[in-house]
Amino acid sequence: MAGLENPGLWLGGLMALKQDTPAPRVAIVGAGWAGCSAAVAAIELGWQVDLFEAAPAAGGRAKSLTKATTHPHNDPPLDNGQHILLGAYSACLATLKTISVNADAVFMRSALDLRDKNAAGFALPNWASTATSEVGMASAVTWAVVRCRRWPIRARVQLLTRMLRWRLSGFACHSSATVADICRGLHSSVMRDFIEPLCVSALNIAPNSASGSVWLRVLKDALLSEPGSSDMLLAKCDLSTLFVEPCLTWLKQQGGRVHTGARVTQVMRKSGKWHVTLAASEACTQPAHADVQATPYNHVIIATPAAQASAICWIHNPHWAQAAASLEHTAIATVYAHSKEVMPPWRSPMLALTGGLAQFVFNRSDLMAPTQTCQVAAVVSDSAANSRDDITASVMQQLDKTWPYARWEWLQTVVEKRACFACTPHAARPVMRIAANLWACADYIAGPYPSTLEGAVRSGREVMQAIGQAS
Ligand SMILES: Cc1cc2nc3c(=O)[nH]c(=O)nc-3n(C[C@H](O)[C@H](O)[C@H](O)COP(=O)(O)OP(=O)(O)OC[C@H]3O[C@@H](n4cnc5c(N)ncnc54)[C@H](O)[C@@H]3O)c2cc1C
Repeated sequence: MAGLENPGLWLGGLMALKQDTPAPRVAIVGAGWAGCSAAVAAIELGWQVDLFEAAPAAGGRAKSLTKATTHPHNDPPLDNGQHILLGAYSACLATLKTISVNADAVFMRSALDLRDKNAAGFALPNWASTATSEVGMASAVTWAVVRCRRWPIRARVQLLTRMLRWRLSGFACHSSATVADICRGLHSSVMRDFIEPLCVSALNIAPNSASGSVWLRVLKDALLSEPGSSDMLLAKCDLSTLFVEPCLTWLKQQGGRVHTGARVTQVMRKSGKWHVTLAASEACTQPAHADVQATPYNHVIIATPAAQASAICWIHNPHWAQAAASLEHTAIATVYAHSKEVMPPWRSPMLALTGGLAQFVFNRSDLMAPTQTCQVAAVVSDSAANSRDDITASVMQQLDKTWPYARWEWLQTVVEKRACFACTPHAARPVMRIAANLWACADYIAGPYPSTLEGAVRSGREVMQAIGQAS
């Protein structure tokens, strides 16, 4: 009984089973990681589930591109963007376990390493992965800072002192503070090698705009809490194989109904029950959807991006819809390339890049299908200021400079303009409850995490927990 891992879900499930009446039914609109996770949690509670996805394939911002856009050389399928998870992503790992995905098999796990090809920069020692206590984790971080010889001694002492101060304050700061504010006075080399890469990769926004309190929360969870929490988890398969496909298979096996190519245009309440309306063309072309439109739901969860959620929910709660519509977004670009020449093995499948727009590059062949030539994904976080052509040119130049002998062939540049909500100190994130029995879950819903897979999955699990308690 998977729900036993979570007492809240299990108790709710037990209550649902106790009823003589048919299990309550929930409609979930949007099958990204948040909507899929809410669907899994609903099934665990014993609910009947209809999951609607507007696109032909589920997965939202974290899925593989269609086969038509994949490339030769027996390369792994390209993803919408290279993703990295952390050991601290407890909700993601719990959901993967529920749907029978073995995290040990699908992830390459290693200690946090933000260094470049020449091993310059910040990295935790390998034994951080096997530290058995919080004290062990703190020792690993201290060890890494002390051993980072390219920082002046004064800079290392300053960083350790500042971390201790953050620890003593419970990793809290004034809600209006930016990351730059709370890091003021730290040495420029520490900012370059540690604060900026961590901030941009976790919050996708530069330190002078990023929320200090959200960043401190990520820092605490990732670096200074449970053993293993700082580990980087790099998928050894494409994103759809990692989560979406096993998730949909599991949902269908458990009796959930999954409707892809089904765009919900409105949700309406009649006689105390909710009904969904699908876009006309989809309702006509797919007869099964007609049946769905007549189905009454006890609850509806909107798991779409903020703009679509705002449009669907405006008539039910204009104040909530306004908050969702007001969120700003930041972009991420991913440049895929393939080496024509044989490459020597990399020190790590993820390396920091310097001297151009990309911050990190991932060796996807090493991760997924080891070959002598390799497919790489270079990631440009917070990329909105640059055009697609400028991004491509800059990244290809970085790759050429770093591995001049590789003879890089450009494959594709994927620009996701609304990759993450802008996690600034003033971002007013909407709450999960929209109206009576109408809810929202997604990475932008109020919560401790920035726009991440963990934020999305947590939100999906939490909304079902709240519904279970309210029902
Ligand atoms: C390039 C890139 C790189 C990233 N890297 C990382 C990373 O390394 N680590 C990390 O943790 N996070 C990363 N993220 C963030 C992460 O991908 C997102 O936070 C997460 O995928 C959001 O999931 P979601 O379910 O909230 O929303 P979405 O994934 O946007 O899902 C919403 C779904 O709703 C559907 N939908 C919209 N309107 C309707 C409608 N009317 N009817 C039905 N369905 C509808 C959409 O088609 C979509 O499938 C990255 C994001 C991008 C874009």
